[in-house]
Order: sequence, then structure tokens, then C-alpha cells
Amino acid sequence: MARKTILVCDNCSKEVPESRGAVMRLNYQDARRGSKQADLCDDCAAGMPGQQVARRGRRPKSMA
Ligand SMILES: [Zn+2]
Repeated sequence: MARKTILVCDNCSKEVPESRGAVMRLNYQDARRGSKQADLCDDCAAGMPGQQVARRGRRPKSMA
């Protein structure tokens, strides 16, 4: 079983090279709707709406 899984972009159907691309996860506020996610290539990920989110971990110096 040496066959590796290839990842395909859910938006443009292009193959996503290893250690590239992104996963977009959508969480509905209404928990009953669950959530969904999409695998994206770098190009499509860049074109998606959304803001950069700070990495978890150390907090930036307090802005309050
Ligand atoms: Zn794509």
C-alpha cells in the first residue's frame, strides 16, 4: 500500500502538490447544520474570502 493519496482542489479540480494548498473549513453558527470543508490549491485559497487569522499560541502584546 505505497500508493499515496493525491489531493485535488475542490474548486478547480487541479491536483494539489504535497505540502501545498489549504483546507477551508466552514462552521455554521447553527450547529445542526454541521460544517463542511474544501481542499484548495494555493491559487484558489488565495482567491477565497476571509482574513488572515493570527496563529495560535503566544498572544500579541495587549492592545487594550
Ligand atoms: Zn484550485
